[in-house]
Formats: sequence, C-alpha cells, structure tokens
Amino acid sequence: LVQIRRVRKSFGAHQVLRDISLEVPAGSVTVLLGPSGSGKSTLLRCVNHLETIDGGRIIVDGELIGYRQAGAKTHEMTPRQIARQRQDIGMVFQRFNLFPHMTALENIMEAPVGVARRSRSVAKSRALELLDRVGLADFAAHYPAQLSGGQQQRVAIARALAMDPKLMLFDEPTSALDPELVGDVLDVMRELARDGMTMIVVTHEIGFARGVADQVVFMDGGVVVEAGAPSEVLDAPQRQRTRNFLDSVK
Ligand code: ATP
Ligand code: MG
Repeated sequence: LVQIRRVRKSFGAHQVLRDISLEVPAGSVTVLLGPSGSGKSTLLRCVNHLETIDGGRIIVDGELIGYRQAGAKTHEMTPRQIARQRQDIGMVFQRFNLFPHMTALENIMEAPVGVARRSRSVAKSRALELLDRVGLADFAAHYPAQLSGGQQQRVAIARALAMDPKLMLFDEPTSALDPELVGDVLDVMRELARDGMTMIVVTHEIGFARGVADQVVFMDGGVVVEAGAPSEVLDAPQRQRTRNFLDSVK
C-alpha cells in the first residue's frame, strides 16, 4: 500500500532522512524504532506531507503524495489536493491533540461533518460506533479534560478512524501516558491491526512490536539500519547499532 523510495529530507544543512526506502504492504503493520533524532517522526510526517521532501517519492495506494508530475518537472500539489490526500491517512500523535472545547463525540464528528460533508446523523452514529470500538461508549459527552490520557488517546484514534483512512500513522502514541494507561491504547491498536488496518507505528513498546508487527524497521542517523520480521530484528539483530539500541530500551 505504501512505497517509500529513496526519500531525502534536510532541515537547513542537517540531513535528517538520507535515503529511506520502505514498503508497507496493505493490511500489514510496520513498527519504526530508533534513537531520538533518528528521523522517525520526520519520516511519518513526510508520508502525509506535513513535511516536503527533497528527493525520492512516497506513494500511498498508487498515488504520489504531495506532488504532481508535469512532464519532466515535479510540482508540489495545491493545499486542496494535499488536504484531500490527507483524508485517507489517519495520524495519531504522542500528545492527544483533541479539541478541548468539544466533547469526545464532537471531536470524532468534526472532520466527517466539517471536511467530508457527511450529515450529522450519519457522522454521529458512526462516531458512537467508533467510541464503542475503543471501549469508550459511555464517554461520548465527556470533554477531554474529563478523560484520562489513555482515554483521550483512544478518542484520538477513533477520531482518525472516522474518516475511514486507508493508512494509520502513529507517532509514539503511548509514550506520554502513565504506565497503567498504556495497555488499553495498545489493545485498541492491536485490534485495529487484527481487523486489517495498514499501520506505521513509531513506538518503543517492544512487546507490541513483537506481537503485532509484520515488519520492524530500525532507523539511526536518517538511514534504515536494519529491517525485517520482528523475530529477525528484535531477537537476532545483525548490526551492532541495533543491538545497542535494543539493550537501551529493553
Ligand atoms: P524522537 O525519538 O526524539 O521523537 P525522531 O526520530 O522522531 O526523534 P525527528 O523528530 O524526526 O526524530 O527529528 C530528526 C532530526 O530532525 C532531529 O535532529 C531534529 O532536531 C530535526 N528536526 C525535526 N524537525 C525539524 C524542523 N522542523 N526544523 C529543524 N530541524 C528539525
Ligand atoms: Mg519523534
């Protein structure tokens, strides 16, 4: 579903992504691991064109992300075209960025009604269904401040799912949570994977990677150091850099 080909990205003189290539088949889960500053968030942000790229290309479901080709030239898409592409790609961040003045239900309905122009009644029944799916059927009328971090993060997942994305991107979705709240969020993600959602997940939850990932990718210094099945990368890493990193998070 996702093809990342030779992607390069610099911030000023600092080359953050050096030459990243990665394939994510439909219905599979890819976990991205790597030390702080290795470029994981930047790579995820490039996939829904929250960042421009300096070279290479990213294709999601057959569509070039963020750019259109006109003869030999490549132009960035218009904001409207970019917004349309983003509708197919759900993203969940480390910090639950729910709208504080809206209830859980309203947060989930916002994009379907405001962006996709669905009727309120259709959006509402779908939102209630999604709240149930993330285990929060009784919390529809709660405001973010009345929810725990883990509950907020599950609302954020439901909100991303409300647009029926083809792909879900997660950037350390549990790393800002108290330890006792992590499990519920990972359970929701595990179930999503079981239902066949294509996912790219940045996380240091090795247990989740081992149990759920089809592919584990270890990045360092803007390159893919090692990629493969969890049993390969996590249990029999070939590279010293990977071993050092795994020792540091285990
Ligand atoms: P972490 O585990 O800490 O989240 P990461 O692997 O997600 O790290 P990135 O956030 O992708 O790393 O950042 C990679 C590098 O790019 C870092 O050195 C960071 O300072 C730099 N960087 C990221 N975004 C910007 C930006 N908007 N402008 C300048 N430099 C940036
Ligand atoms: Mg990051």
